[in-house]
Amino acid sequence: MPRAEHPVSRTDISDNALKVLHRLNDAGFDAYLVGGCVRDIMLGQQPKDFDVVTNATPEEIKAQFRNCRLIGRRFRLAHILFGREIIEVATFRGHHGADEKPTELGRSSDEGQLTRDNVFGSINEDAERRDFTFNAMYYSAADFSVSDFANGVQAIKRREVELIGDPETRYREDPVRMLRAVRFAAKLNMKITPRTGDPIHTLSGLLSNIPAARLFEEYLKLFLSGNALKTFELMQHYGLLTPLFPQLKDSLSKPDSREYQLIEQVLINTDNRINNEQRVTPAFLLAAFLWYPLEEHSQRLITESGLQPHDAFLLAMSDVLGKQTQRIMIPKRFSTAMREIWQLQWRLPKRYGRRASQLLEHPRFRAAYDFLLLRGEIEGGDTLEVAQWWTAYQDASPDARRKMANSGGKGGASRRRPRRPRKAKKPDA
Ligand code: ATP
Ligand code: MG
Repeated sequence: MPRAEHPVSRTDISDNALKVLHRLNDAGFDAYLVGGCVRDIMLGQQPKDFDVVTNATPEEIKAQFRNCRLIGRRFRLAHILFGREIIEVATFRGHHGADEKPTELGRSSDEGQLTRDNVFGSINEDAERRDFTFNAMYYSAADFSVSDFANGVQAIKRREVELIGDPETRYREDPVRMLRAVRFAAKLNMKITPRTGDPIHTLSGLLSNIPAARLFEEYLKLFLSGNALKTFELMQHYGLLTPLFPQLKDSLSKPDSREYQLIEQVLINTDNRINNEQRVTPAFLLAAFLWYPLEEHSQRLITESGLQPHDAFLLAMSDVLGKQTQRIMIPKRFSTAMREIWQLQWRLPKRYGRRASQLLEHPRFRAAYDFLLLRGEIEGGDTLEVAQWWTAYQDASPDARRKMANSGGKGGASRRRPRRPRKAKKPDA
């Protein structure tokens, strides 16, 4: 499509991305913008980053730019750094021969999963190797044309998520494409065609072959992009939640349960926060996903192993986190935050005497209080009462706070534990 037939204008494109395209063109290479940025501009949306693809090899790319770093093993590519903006430059990917021996360049597992994808090829092959039809449009800064290799324009018009090639083969090559399908459907407000969607129901289990670290990256994109609720519902529909969160299995079949409602509410809150440009932490959402599994496991430890409630809770935290990180690697700083939010649920009800002002100073107080409010909305009863108490406490004057802290019922400062009676002297002393 020549410039007159498509809406992609240079003013929509980052200056740094244009610089990269021109530099590669001037050095005699082909270079294009491709993927999400072209798609988003076609949709009238602002791209969040710009990806470039070229026939130059990573080494040839590096030779053209001083500010360039080569990264990746499974998929080698170049990052060109411009202050805070990074332009990703990849070399055209080619096809892997059907019964080719594994090499340093290309490799696949017994399930057909590509574990190394560094076989280079032509622009045609590169387009066939991309995931969805709307992600295979290429913009040239040499003649301002857009090349649409897979009917991406049509998919955008029809608002359809459509995989390139045979869906089962493509999902086996890279099971993460199943997650990408629902993510794009939610984000772009499109429908997944039956051809692309149906196989997911039976292949979702392949996600267990994906390294936990990669799934953390996907988790962030799925749930912290402002479309978490819709994404969650689609994942539920296609059976993609259990492979990622095995401990949610039981609650997912009960949409009326408080487990389900807590998750739904936290997703709504997360979307609202993101769309209002408020801060969110991946820890909060994960803490909410796993709260009831944690409570349930903790209860089981009490009844089955006779542990003290608090000990059972601590042990359950480790068990639940340990199970989850087998699927989604949770970086230490976030798992620490999750533990703190959970532990504070235990401490916030014990709010009398000096404890209230101390808890207020806790670095994780705000998150833990928000979490308690959420639980209060769903559980009502004591939880709601404690949450409301904390709301009032924070709004109160210093004087009123002191009064609140001292007016406690059980465990209040005014009713200290009776002093333990002195030990009677041993008769023979
Ligand atoms: P986003 O807006 O989320 O960045 P995107 O389409 O740009 O969406 P990226 O993950 O940045 O997604 O990938 C850039 C492009 O690389 C995609 O548009 C697609 O063409 C290709 N791509 C990415 N991941 C895969 C994959 N797993 N399989 C095939 N092609 C992929
Ligand atoms: Mg992108």
